[in-house]
Amino acid sequence: MPWPLAPDFLAPLASWFDGARRDLPWRAADLDAPHPDPYAVLVSELMLQQTQVATVIPYFARWMARFPTPTALAAADEDTVHKAWEGLGYYRRARFLRAASASVAAEGWPGSLEGLASLPGLGPYTAAAVGSIAFQWPTPALDGNAFRVLARLLALEGDPKGRATDLRTWLAPALSIHGPSRTTQALMELGATVCTPLPACGRCPLADGCGARKAGRTAEIPPPARRTQVREIALWLLAVEADGQLLLHPPSDKGLLAGLWRWPTLEAVPVVAPPSAHILPPLTAWPGWTQVYTHRREAVSPLHLALPERFAEAEGLRWVPRGDLPALALGKRDQRLRDLLDTPGATPLEAPDPAALLGLLRAGGAPSA
Ligand code: SF4
Repeated sequence: MPWPLAPDFLAPLASWFDGARRDLPWRAADLDAPHPDPYAVLVSELMLQQTQVATVIPYFARWMARFPTPTALAAADEDTVHKAWEGLGYYRRARFLRAASASVAAEGWPGSLEGLASLPGLGPYTAAAVGSIAFQWPTPALDGNAFRVLARLLALEGDPKGRATDLRTWLAPALSIHGPSRTTQALMELGATVCTPLPACGRCPLADGCGARKAGRTAEIPPPARRTQVREIALWLLAVEADGQLLLHPPSDKGLLAGLWRWPTLEAVPVVAPPSAHILPPLTAWPGWTQVYTHRREAVSPLHLALPERFAEAEGLRWVPRGDLPALALGKRDQRLRDLLDTPGATPLEAPDPAALLGLLRAGGAPSA
């Protein structure tokens, strides 16, 4: 069956949004004019990738107070930017945001969707979202919420992401007629608050035309995404201290924790017998936890190791005065160990083999987990 015309089909959405919209700090009061601060839209869109709205709100406020313009962000050094992003995760976004801001500060905002998409870190979704929300261009932005809503409205079979091009073409006239920013945000809002995985169809402004609701198939459409394979790993997370200094990996450009300082880690196998005081430097342990990433689950065992003196730094490791720790940008896992250092721990019942541990650290061979 051909799809209905989007402007007619989606007409109730525009007026529904006036009453249903959440008051979010990056949202313009006037949905039908270009946004007064496109940079705020860019910041919010990058923060909202992979992160919940409630988490983003206080970060957004602090960020805009600290880096109020693309020029201010471009002028900040990378460590400062990572520190401000600390706790949001997926730190590549902070680096992309700074690089995109530097481009905007130097050359101004691009005048086309292609220009936006060429800014660092802006994929097709983010470029289209900034285009429609900041500049009122009829560039449909399809995030996960929008895909779910459209799949149900049009009763699409299979993964709706495979129909992205058709869906954008279908949506564009609705953006032109009802307003790009209003329509884009209304669709996302409907997906976030009404057409959720367990939809509240009774509150939906589009219920009368919804294909999945009429067919009684809202639970099947869209089909659940295939689960990504998650790797399980057990780690010792090591705070090695000597002479008031701690050993850390400085930030690298690549990997899950790019741009962040990291504690050394050792895979927690094989576990050796409980340490005896006369062969090991003093060890302190705290209860462990499970750190969950998209593709990886870490069973983390935090450990503090007090050495009588520092050894020469190996490549990829650096001694850092303990007083400097609060200023370093660390990922969530490593922040937890930083916080634990100020709390009492206990002598561990298990420990890594001390010779292997020190050998690995001296060789700089601790895995970059
Ligand atoms: S009627 Fe239900 S399934 Fe259809 S778009 Fe509305 S909330 Fe989603």
